[in-house]
Amino acid sequence: MPLPEFEFHEPATVDEACRMIGELGEKTKILAGGTDLLVNMKKKLLAPEHLVSLDRIQSLAQLDSSNGSLRIGPCVKAAEMAESDVVISDFPALQEGASKLGSPLIRNLATVGGNLVTARPAADFPPSLIAYGATLVLKSNHGERTVPLTEFIQAPGETVLSPDEMLKAIVLEKPSPLSGSAYIKLGVREALEISLLNVAALLTLDESGGTITAARVVMGSVAPTPLLSPSAEKVLLGETPSDVLFLDAGEAAASDSRPIDDFRASAEYKRAMVRELTRRALTLAFDRIQTQ
Ligand SMILES: Cc1cc2nc3c(=O)[nH]c(=O)nc-3n(C[C@H](O)[C@H](O)[C@H](O)COP(=O)(O)OP(=O)(O)OC[C@H]3O[C@@H](n4cnc5c(N)ncnc54)[C@H](O)[C@@H]3O)c2cc1C
Repeated sequence: MPLPEFEFHEPATVDEACRMIGELGEKTKILAGGTDLLVNMKKKLLAPEHLVSLDRIQSLAQLDSSNGSLRIGPCVKAAEMAESDVVISDFPALQEGASKLGSPLIRNLATVGGNLVTARPAADFPPSLIAYGATLVLKSNHGERTVPLTEFIQAPGETVLSPDEMLKAIVLEKPSPLSGSAYIKLGVREALEISLLNVAALLTLDESGGTITAARVVMGSVAPTPLLSPSAEKVLLGETPSDVLFLDAGEAAASDSRPIDDFRASAEYKRAMVRELTRRALTLAFDRIQTQ
């Protein structure tokens, strides 16, 4: 299937890219890895008149870790995230999401930014990024603003980005000492599969290692947007980690989930899987604290 015709633009800087998307108007799309956009153009679901490629802007493709925070350029590829030493050591749930996304070919093209902007309920990056408290830097010709990832994704395929804005960076703080995290993806098949559902979990313990002082459980594909479970957090905070506690937290996360019946699985099955995946993700996160 051929692509529809379009004009191709290759800005060399972020300012130039912002100027272009501001001037070219609404029939313009930003192109990162193209694994979503070009597929939709080939299917004739989209026919932008202008594509603004981010490929030449090196600053957008960098991972920068300093002063306890990680700044991810939106054009960093899933494969780079999966292999980065700092991601592996400090943000293991993110590494797990990156290494489970699509196939090796897709991971070599797909970017973190593209994954967030497509705003698919089943996407692999949002749950762990939300668990780590990610904030996004958005930029246009008029300036910059910072938005928490929890507010960025509004509905399937919909974000708070305005047509003249681009995603410039994703910023995470390194979790406190005595923190552990994990991401588990459930698909119908092992490889090349969008999640049937997924769960990311983060736990932080107090100095004695006995009490949970911070907890986040984030679920994907069980609501129109990735869902942070307030009930699971309530169950976990102030408690001592145990198998029974993690089972209760799984129950609480399942009660917050809002899955629907579809051709892939029933809502009932998905709710049961939220319960189990939450339990497993919390257990894994806790094991990781103990082996630090
Ligand atoms: C075979 C196949 C398997 C896949 N498997 C998975 C999977 O397992 N898990 C998963 O989560 N996804 C999967 N995907 C979906 C897709 O690969 C990912 O969502 C990917 O991360 C998109 O990134 P990209 O760089 O290719 O985005 P692009 O296709 O380049 O762009 C996607 C959208 O984001 C916008 N955009 C990109 N960068 C920016 C920016 N910096 N600022 C503003 N807007 C921007 C574009 O304009 C476009 O609207 C799969 C896709 C295919 C084709």
